[in-house]
Amino acid sequence: MMENTKHEKVSLGIFPTPVQRLENISRALGTQVYIKRDDMTGIGLGGNKVRKLEYLLADAKAKGAQIIFTTGGAQSNHAMLTAAAARKLGMTPILILKKRGVTARQGNQLLEHLMGVDVRFMDTNDYADIYEEMDRVGQASGLPYYKIPCGGSNALGTLGYVDCVKELREQGAEFDHIICAEGSGGTMAGLALGAKLYMPGARVTGMMVDSDPFEEITLRLMREAAALLGVAVNVSAQDFDLRDLCGPGYAIASEEGNAAVSMMASQEGLFLDPVYTGKAFAGLIAMAKEGAFKPDDRVLFLHSGGAGGLFAIEM
Ligand SMILES: *Cc1c(COP(=O)(O)O)cnc(C)c1O
Repeated sequence: MMENTKHEKVSLGIFPTPVQRLENISRALGTQVYIKRDDMTGIGLGGNKVRKLEYLLADAKAKGAQIIFTTGGAQSNHAMLTAAAARKLGMTPILILKKRGVTARQGNQLLEHLMGVDVRFMDTNDYADIYEEMDRVGQASGLPYYKIPCGGSNALGTLGYVDCVKELREQGAEFDHIICAEGSGGTMAGLALGAKLYMPGARVTGMMVDSDPFEEITLRLMREAAALLGVAVNVSAQDFDLRDLCGPGYAIASEEGNAAVSMMASQEGLFLDPVYTGKAFAGLIAMAKEGAFKPDDRVLFLHSGGAGGLFAIEM
């Protein structure tokens, strides 16, 4: 198998993350449910962005960056984890966030305050304005800077989740289904490409928690990541499934998402979040109820983190 030798990583987290069987949920849903504990990636409060950041910050470091910019919503887990990782590496994070959602010192905002991070809000709905602002601030600083896109979802960040499937294989785990939340797309695209390369028997389903054109986004990231790896694979929309779990809107809790958070908490003692993992797990429950899984199917749920938001989003 091919190695991602061309692309360096910095070590930020603790890998491999555990895979656990969910006994009570398996019984309740009539299939074999496992969880990949990417909420335990070992920095901040854990979460999926750490795998992407190991690639992105290695690139930033190689380019001599001293300031790391990124963006997202006010309660972005990605922004918080980027700040934590940049701090650990001795770089200066500057977060320019969309002024939407909870901007009070709660949840991820509190964590950023504890890290002493420079957090700015921009009243815009267009990330293009924010990337321009990063250039303005970066150039004014006179220091070398590096811009990480929303969610860390570019081709390089996507490699983190290609690696995750490789890691699963190395853990000796084969699955029929892999289920994740899809917010900016890199996680899903990485898993779908990783499954193609390392676990072709696994069907990947992305539970969409926002209203972006995810089929297009996933395909583009899969193709770009495959090109970075130099692997010749034919990528098409048949490689994955998508399901709409957005409900009342991005970062707004849904009834089914909240029920899924409660089910995981009360049956397994694990905490999901209302923005991503709760909605994604609601999608898994819905698929089980529709008969999408056979009793002996092995279904892997990616716990992608989100603990920071759990304490800030109204449920
Ligand atoms: C960002 C995030 C996701 C979505 O991952 P993308 O790669 O942005 O699609 C899922 N879960 C949590 C907790 C996140 O913070």
